[in-house]
Amino acid sequence: MESAIIKKNLRNPRLVILGSGESGTGAALLGQHLGYDVLVSDKGNIKPEYKTALTNAGIPWEEGQHTLENILNADEIIKSPGIPEKTEVMKAIRAAGINVIGEIEWGFRHAGPCRIVAITGSNGKTTTTMLTDHLLRTAGLNVRMGGNVGNSFAAMVLDDLKQGQNNNANRIFVLEVSSFQLDDIQQFKPEVAVLLNITPDHLDRYEYKLENYARAKFRIAMNQGHGDVFIYNGIDPITAEIMPAVSISSQVQHIAIGQAQLETPGIIHLGEHHFTLTKGNLRGPHNQFNAACAAQTALQMGAEPAKIQEGLDTFQTPPHRLEKVAEHNGITWINDSKATNVDSVFYALQAMNTPTIWIAGGTDKGNDYTPLLDLVADKVKAIVCMGVDNSKLLSVFGPMNKSIVEARSAREAVEAAAKFAQAGDTVLLSPACASFDLFKNYEDRGAQFREEVLRVVSD
Ligand code: ADP
Repeated sequence: MESAIIKKNLRNPRLVILGSGESGTGAALLGQHLGYDVLVSDKGNIKPEYKTALTNAGIPWEEGQHTLENILNADEIIKSPGIPEKTEVMKAIRAAGINVIGEIEWGFRHAGPCRIVAITGSNGKTTTTMLTDHLLRTAGLNVRMGGNVGNSFAAMVLDDLKQGQNNNANRIFVLEVSSFQLDDIQQFKPEVAVLLNITPDHLDRYEYKLENYARAKFRIAMNQGHGDVFIYNGIDPITAEIMPAVSISSQVQHIAIGQAQLETPGIIHLGEHHFTLTKGNLRGPHNQFNAACAAQTALQMGAEPAKIQEGLDTFQTPPHRLEKVAEHNGITWINDSKATNVDSVFYALQAMNTPTIWIAGGTDKGNDYTPLLDLVADKVKAIVCMGVDNSKLLSVFGPMNKSIVEARSAREAVEAAAKFAQAGDTVLLSPACASFDLFKNYEDRGAQFREEVLRVVSD
């Protein structure tokens, strides 16, 4: 009996990673480096580049299945944010009482002394994360960016460990964090937490209850304390409604970005500091808001105001977000493939000032299209529904007296749009849906759209 206990204590702790994407692979490599006995298990296929990385590191993996006997003997489990609680494997793990964390928590646990900025929200995360990184970098600070965009947090932590940087307390991690990732944090405690906005999205994962989804987003601030800062949207009604019901320590400094900061288009007022958005390509009210959050964060982290202005002037917005891909025969073609929910389409349509041929559709996430009805009536002259199942779009927008057609590929959609478009019009791909029915991901959707547009305009 005694020897069995000793034997158990002597073995390396066992870590099982569920899901093998960027975050799962990063978490596995970090675990291996720290001396854990690691297994990666994925119900789907593991991408070849991740298989190679795992195999090269000597980490066992399985795909196409979750073998419970090799999973339920774990000391701890790291789960990909994409795996819902209702799956069989998660039910078995919960029943066995094994501690489950996400990769963000795992990275935090091993990051060493450092400063963390975490950014969440329904829309604008990637733009604001990349901009914050750019502002801090321009200011000469020691910054790394990742999380839900680019490198996983664990991969960056591992990199620092290997480079002997993990005791450098001046390091700043700027992390994009999704609500799914926040579901699986325990101690994660950013110095600056930014909650950009809360609009209905992913409701399928939150029992179709907006409040559950909203509460998940507020988890970004749940471990903050004295000396930490919580930056939030002072004009977002859902944030205002949920805020009193969540517990954020009164020691945390709250900073609202609202009317006072944004009242002049193209200018950001942050206390005594004023920044302009005239030189870079951050356009539109939503980007003014994103920029205000990023600039406030940069001030908080000690960036010099003149450097912040320089960063705002030199930032390039990332692709697939209201990206102009062509202008030909008086027709403008815009790729907003990253608009995967109704709210981001609302902003995109609002930004249109010519008659618009709107390409929408994909995998519906429980969308309510009502907020778009007035904008569509006003700005859209034709709709191209690009999805496997277009029935919801057809039933909502069909009765509106607009031309409406279906397409099953980017090529069909672009060709259909080209038939409707005349000089002076804009063709806007802004889907309001996920891309997985016809494409690998939103980048693939945007890239195929761009390719087809360039083909059509060069014919
Ligand atoms: P996320 O990473 O949260 O998905 P992105 O920066 O990638 O956000 O932008 C996604 C979409 O949302 C784009 O279509 C963009 O035009 C739109 N968008 C960006 N910032 C905001 C904002 N603050 N409010 C509403 N929509 C936004």
